[in-house]
Amino acid sequence: MSPSSDPAAAVLLRVDDVVVEYPRKGQPPMRALAGVSLEVAPGEIVGIVGESGCGKSTLARAVTGLAPAHSGSVSFRGARIGALGRRRRDSDLLPLQMVFQDPNASLNPRRTVGAQIREVVVARDRAHGVRHPRRSPEAAREAAEALRRVGLPDGAADKYPHEFSGGQRQRAAIARALASRPEMIVADEPVSALDASAQAAVANLLRDLSREEGIALAFISHDLAVVGALADRVVVMYLGRVVETGAVEEIWNAPRHPYTRALLAAVPVPDGRGARPEALAGEVPDPGSPPPGCRFHPRCPLAVDRCRTDEPVLLRAPGAAAESEVACWVAQASGPAPGGV
Ligand code: ADP
Ligand code: MG
Repeated sequence: MSPSSDPAAAVLLRVDDVVVEYPRKGQPPMRALAGVSLEVAPGEIVGIVGESGCGKSTLARAVTGLAPAHSGSVSFRGARIGALGRRRRDSDLLPLQMVFQDPNASLNPRRTVGAQIREVVVARDRAHGVRHPRRSPEAAREAAEALRRVGLPDGAADKYPHEFSGGQRQRAAIARALASRPEMIVADEPVSALDASAQAAVANLLRDLSREEGIALAFISHDLAVVGALADRVVVMYLGRVVETGAVEEIWNAPRHPYTRALLAAVPVPDGRGARPEALAGEVPDPGSPPPGCRFHPRCPLAVDRCRTDEPVLLRAPGAAAESEVACWVAQASGPAPGGV
């Protein structure tokens, strides 16, 4: 077997049956992730989708070590990630960087963006035994290059975060993440707070950086239209679990899980007529006390008796591509998906 065909070599990030719980006063803990597994290959773009509250941010935090796993494990390049990323200085050095919905979460409002990026460059080099002089021209050059790389104009280094537009500020946060020379970026709703034109531009920037620099990207979004335009593969989450995963083309053309179908049906169509009518009904239940059986069954138009008692696991459905899996009794029992919604 050649090295490139060794499946273990093709995994950069491995999330294995991770459970994350938040303590709650006077109640059982909130189980925000109820056993999630996924793998990301080097340079791959994985879109993670699902309604608000399904655990997307918790997954991002577990992957970057910001939320400790109650059970299960996360490994990056074969090494376990514990709570390593908890302190800001440590997390700057990780080859796995996080980009947040609010760029202010990673930028200090009281310092110029250039100073903040130089600081990451200096800390990164120090971790490798390279010391910079106090006003390192090399660090300054690298910071300017990172800002240029994300499409910010000359002079951006001398500005404070509040002097930028929302889209520019997110670009600056991405430049700061790039300065640590990451192998992977986890971007949690990175465009959701931006206006429509900045949304597409920043999403395209992340895609281009991933493609051109070989940086793996986990792009988390509740907006399936953005994810469809960007990702190689998609992971659909519902109530702390993965319910479907596969190549974007396969899932977009032939979604198998009724939840995925409902999410796709709710995406506004490009001709501007708005969402199609079969959009998802009902509310997301409390993840702290999920319904028995399949978590989706109270909202599912296809639910049968078994769905109310037995929880389905992710399995390849009949006729599905090798990397596609769905956690649905009905989809697993039926033949190839009819194609489209
Ligand atoms: P998403 O990003 O998909 O909207 P989150 O991961 O933020 O979902 O949240 C998943 C669930 O965990 C939600 O029900 C949310 O209310 C709950 N949750 C998130 N953070 C906390 C916390 N710090 N303490 C308690 N519950 C939390
Ligand atoms: Mg979130």
